[in-house]
Amino acid sequence: MDLISERTKRIATENAFKVGPYIAALEAAGNKVIKCNLGEPDFPLPTHIRDEVKRQLDLDNVHYTNPQGVPSLREAVAKYVGEARGLEYSPEQVVVFPGGKPPIGLCQQTYTNPGDEIIYPSPGFPIYESFIRYVGAVPVPLHLREEMGFSFTGADLEKLITPKTKLIFMNFPSNPTGGVASKEQLEEIAEVIKRKCDPNVRIYSDEIYENILFDGAKNYSIASVEGMKDKVLIATGASKSYSWTGGRIGWVVFPNVEEAKLFTNLNINYFSCIPPYNQEGARLAIEAPESKVSIATMNEAFQSRRDFVVDALNAMPGVSCQSPKGAFYVFPNIAGVVKDMEIDQAYAALPAEVQATTSPSTLFQMFLLWNYCVATMDRKSFGQIGTEDMHFLRLSIATGLEDLKIGMQRMAEAINDKQGFARFIEAGEHFS
Ligand code: PMP
Repeated sequence: MDLISERTKRIATENAFKVGPYIAALEAAGNKVIKCNLGEPDFPLPTHIRDEVKRQLDLDNVHYTNPQGVPSLREAVAKYVGEARGLEYSPEQVVVFPGGKPPIGLCQQTYTNPGDEIIYPSPGFPIYESFIRYVGAVPVPLHLREEMGFSFTGADLEKLITPKTKLIFMNFPSNPTGGVASKEQLEEIAEVIKRKCDPNVRIYSDEIYENILFDGAKNYSIASVEGMKDKVLIATGASKSYSWTGGRIGWVVFPNVEEAKLFTNLNINYFSCIPPYNQEGARLAIEAPESKVSIATMNEAFQSRRDFVVDALNAMPGVSCQSPKGAFYVFPNIAGVVKDMEIDQAYAALPAEVQATTSPSTLFQMFLLWNYCVATMDRKSFGQIGTEDMHFLRLSIATGLEDLKIGMQRMAEAINDKQGFARFIEAGEHFS
């Protein structure tokens, strides 16, 4: 008898959390590690939000509360999400979750039966792919086009839609690429969905980076395209906009009240409710004019770091990097490095069981981490299916400019260190 269920053996993970102990080991040995792996803003929680959370604690607002989310936060979310997208929602359509992540798996459980197909972006947030096999559905990666700023066309999507398609994940601004879709692109994609999909197909529009935008870019939602509102779930939250990843407040606006109720019942089953003092903090974050200022300050810093990092990467031989329009990641193509440093050959020479745990971009990621103390993420961390010949890294720019300068210098040195890489492979450790 197996201890562990088959389903549990099928779930994957988010590697960003896996790199943490490696960094801790390097730091414990006295190294300064440049952390370009983190998916969270490096700014403090703005004081007006912090003060509200403290005030709520002093009010003893620490007890069980409405499992759908406190009405004051749901009202604020309905208004804010609706107004920004030219749509109208009622607070009854909003459900609050412990962060932007949990509704991803809950939606897969709720909308799919085993054998149903789920389309999701690749590269994309790893949890989309991780959960699919866990719920017994079939993963259908939608490979984003580098030449289109990591976006996709209606025709790209159309090829993947079948009568089994049940759920489609979209994520703009994107993790890990920083890609932002234009209104025209979304209209074209929506046209395909309206024409090809059953009315019961749901679109999960993960817009958690809605406020992190550069060069005057705007977040358009596919929900705003005519005829789409009743198919689209809009998911955002407090983690990125307010630099509050530990607050664990996220929300989804559902197409109708009935679907919101189903998720409220899941909340009751899984965790009862979310800390009310943090929900009130999130309500204030949405409503306070000061939040616009704190978001603008963050975006200004991200944009100048982006400019520095993209230029530095493009100056490295074998690296080409697009300039993202949103989120706080850059996603350089390192195919040239893989070839020049013979990383592909080193990978091909590894035993099959080791190959299965790594990839050429993982080998470079690990070399960069263990030999040069720069933490990044590999391509494989953002979707694995059909990505064997894709060589990219994700670098987070949610790290100070001075550290980024050191990181870029170290990466340029690492790319020149073919012998060091050969020794790293010979040592036979830290391949994933
Ligand atoms: N969606 C995307 C695209 C993300 O990048 C993240 C966080 N990295 C989340 C959802 C989850 O956010 P949270 O921390 O609020 O759970």
